[in-house]
Amino acid sequence: MKKGYYNETTIAKFADALKNAKKLVRAILESGIVPQVKFSGGNTKMGLVPSVSTMPFFTCPHVCSTTCGVSCYAAKLANLRKNVLNSYAWNTAVVMLCPEEYHAQVKAFCRGQRYFRYHVSGDIVNKDYFAHMVENALENPHCEILAFTKRFEIVNDWISANGALPENLHILFSGWNNLKPENPHGLPETTVFEHDSEFCDNWKTCGGNCFNCACRGLGCWNAKSGDIVAFKKH
Ligand code: SF4
Repeated sequence: MKKGYYNETTIAKFADALKNAKKLVRAILESGIVPQVKFSGGNTKMGLVPSVSTMPFFTCPHVCSTTCGVSCYAAKLANLRKNVLNSYAWNTAVVMLCPEEYHAQVKAFCRGQRYFRYHVSGDIVNKDYFAHMVENALENPHCEILAFTKRFEIVNDWISANGALPENLHILFSGWNNLKPENPHGLPETTVFEHDSEFCDNWKTCGGNCFNCACRGLGCWNAKSGDIVAFKKH
């Protein structure tokens, strides 16, 4: 088992939280109450950009175990703070047990937002989930929506079948030192670098505050085909 956050102890702890959240959501559904999705109003990195998140590892593709999973900051935070873990677990339980309700609430939330981020923690859960993300962007053209993903296949398949993504849906393929995304449609990408790595010409450095980037039309919100946003490994 690898060091870092992708380890047996963390995974068992997260699995427990998810099991408990599913029990709670099931009980709420059985009593006829609609479970409410939990949104974040922003954080140090996101600035004022609100977001919705799911469980790290449990909604991520398996490739995260040999890439970002080991140093995952969302897993670190969930491991440190029970309320964060419970909130990720709760949203994951809601999307697993009543996906239509989850997506309806995310779309309704975005009606009142100028910027929105999917998955400060977690990733696109499945094809249907991604179809809802696209629908959300189409239904809320005033809202710029950002997501990083390692679910390359789901996004590639959607574009192959349907054509270009809506302009307000900014999907960046998330690479890693040992992972070059499958990117036949030329979406912008991200990568990571160490302090002593060579910095490539086509890389843009992360500005450090997503709200600031959004308001100034910079960074990931404005990344084009061929652009690679580079994050310093922490
Ligand atoms: S480049 Fe800007 S928008 Fe992209 S992750 Fe960094 S701060 Fe956020």
